[in-house]
Amino acid sequence: MTTIAALLAEARRRIPASEARLLLGHVLGRNAAWLEAHRDDEVAADSDYTALVARREAGEPIAYLIGVREFYGRDFVVSPDVLIPRPETELLVDVAKTKVGAGRTARVLDLGTGSGCLAVTLALELPQARVTAVDVSPAALGVARGNAQRFGAQVEFVESDWFAALPPQRFELILANPPYVAAGDPHLAQGDLRFEPADALTDHADGLMGIRLIVAQAHDWLAEGGWLFLEHGYDQDTAVQALLAAAGFSQIEQHRDLAGILRATGGRGPGAEAIVFPANNQ
Ligand code: GLN
Repeated sequence: MTTIAALLAEARRRIPASEARLLLGHVLGRNAAWLEAHRDDEVAADSDYTALVARREAGEPIAYLIGVREFYGRDFVVSPDVLIPRPETELLVDVAKTKVGAGRTARVLDLGTGSGCLAVTLALELPQARVTAVDVSPAALGVARGNAQRFGAQVEFVESDWFAALPPQRFELILANPPYVAAGDPHLAQGDLRFEPADALTDHADGLMGIRLIVAQAHDWLAEGGWLFLEHGYDQDTAVQALLAAAGFSQIEQHRDLAGILRATGGRGPGAEAIVFPANNQ
């Protein structure tokens, strides 16, 4: 037997204290407040915990070890099949909220949904949104479907390489957080990114392949007046703006994430008139 305090003290020699608490709370099914109140409780020395601490020490992301990551106030289930939701991606939710008019149905498409964090959050935050989400990875779609079910979110999932397998239809809003890290970017060999699906992070080229394709094809999928918004890298704001402008997008907007970085760029589809959403577009 040992105590909670002793288990935490041992783990703290290897990993940060906050992570030691998270992992022990995960193993015991308790939160940090409970652990604090039960520091002197006797517990069986736990080999699951020791193994998790060792995996964390070797660099595995906390989110994969405990199987969840918070996004926009909700805990999403994640696995190594999906990118771990990032705080900067919450920006796309905030932007979407400003574009989807109150009370009117808006068809929304999330390209490359991964864990489903964007699609599920939009379906829950915007009851007037009818959300479709695509991903090329069946395993990712499994995770996303699970998250939608867990939260009771209505999302239609389609296995598709961007637009390729999507039945013809139009959307008032298209969002994407595509893989935008350039091949050879040193970040890919650091921290959590080493354990995340490479195809969700990088296009194995200059980082703009996915964005170029989406911008080039979006006009076939946007409704009149519809908006496209893309998350992109810290150094891609000028390139993405130029791609949108060259493709005929108007009212181009750029938004900063909480770190002050221009992180989302979007605009209104080519040929868009000054109407927002049709009143009835079932
Ligand atoms: N923002 C992520 C990172 O740099 C990348 C996410 C992505 O490629 N969509 O870690």
